[in-house]
Amino acid sequence: MALTVAPAGNSQDLLARARRIHAEAVGIDSHIDTIQRALNGGEDLSRRTAGGQVDLPRLREAGMRAPFFALYVPTYYKGSEAVRRTLQLRDAMQQLFDAHPDQIELALNAADVERIVKAGKISAMLTIESGHAIADDLAALRMFHRLGVRSMTLTHFRNNNWADSSTDNPQHNGLSEFGREVVREMNRIGMIVDISHVSDKTFYDTLAVTTKPVIASHSSCRALVDVPRNMTDDMIRALAKNGGVIGINFGASFLSQKDVEASRRVFAARAAVEPNLNGKALDEFAKQDYLETYSVMKPNQATIEDAAVHIDHVVKLVGVEHVGIGSDWDGISTVPAGLEDVSKMPALTALLLQRGYSESDVKKILGGNFLRIMRQTIGQ
Ligand SMILES: [Zn+2]
Repeated sequence: MALTVAPAGNSQDLLARARRIHAEAVGIDSHIDTIQRALNGGEDLSRRTAGGQVDLPRLREAGMRAPFFALYVPTYYKGSEAVRRTLQLRDAMQQLFDAHPDQIELALNAADVERIVKAGKISAMLTIESGHAIADDLAALRMFHRLGVRSMTLTHFRNNNWADSSTDNPQHNGLSEFGREVVREMNRIGMIVDISHVSDKTFYDTLAVTTKPVIASHSSCRALVDVPRNMTDDMIRALAKNGGVIGINFGASFLSQKDVEASRRVFAARAAVEPNLNGKALDEFAKQDYLETYSVMKPNQATIEDAAVHIDHVVKLVGVEHVGIGSDWDGISTVPAGLEDVSKMPALTALLLQRGYSESDVKKILGGNFLRIMRQTIGQ
């Protein structure tokens, strides 16, 4: 970890170095919501799109070739409706795989990720957001695993029937007994447990039961920005002790204290949505909900520098082995200046180089750390 000596270099040199590193790195981002744009907006992700933050050409251009594609199910999908929604998202991913086998391929483990990236394609790891998608049934969890899902966040903005969320009132005092069973089953079948969105108590309960490293796929640092979705320094230390990794979220309200008030209102409004519909009517509601929330980016004050500061905070606290990128692209309604979409990622790397990070440090952040977690949790 070379953090003390900052190698000199003008910003053009640093950006050129950053681009070379991105050309060589795996480029893992542990949380993007991009498949929503295909399902809800009918967008063709194989082409460069005008809106949004990610598509396949921009992933290639950025050298971020191995994102985790989230199958995000809003909490207003209840019970078996949530299972159905997860299948729709899985199907949307399959349509992308089938239409463009030359561009993108499903990855089931770390070896797949490395092979697919080496072949010049985008590697897609599938992750479920969030735990209510299994409808309180381990059979559904196991079958999602069979469909290629390799990680799952335990909660989203609301509590579910077995785990408390960071943005809801405590109901289970953390993880219920069934919630502990979910974690054990994920450990057993080889699915990464993702603690982004859970309450602090749920986080510590999860660490007490898991036998494998866990991840926070898209959270930032609460010491810098005081929102419940971010992790305290104590939590980051506990995560590192567990061998886990935190992927830094680029939403403005995760990165800049100046944007927190607006985010509180947004989170509260998001959590309060209860359409009380089902079937096609619910799907239509979800479509409009997504398009209205995420199609236009809201003004904010966060910058790309803030993202570098959050990464650096984790590195100084617990070392470079425990941090990664978890942008939340296409699932955030605010993007930092200078980091407006995935194509800007080399500029973030240039800032890390400017801070004295070595190329091997940067490569750990750009995927090496998450590959380690995959090997430890999923196996080969
Ligand atoms: Zn999320």
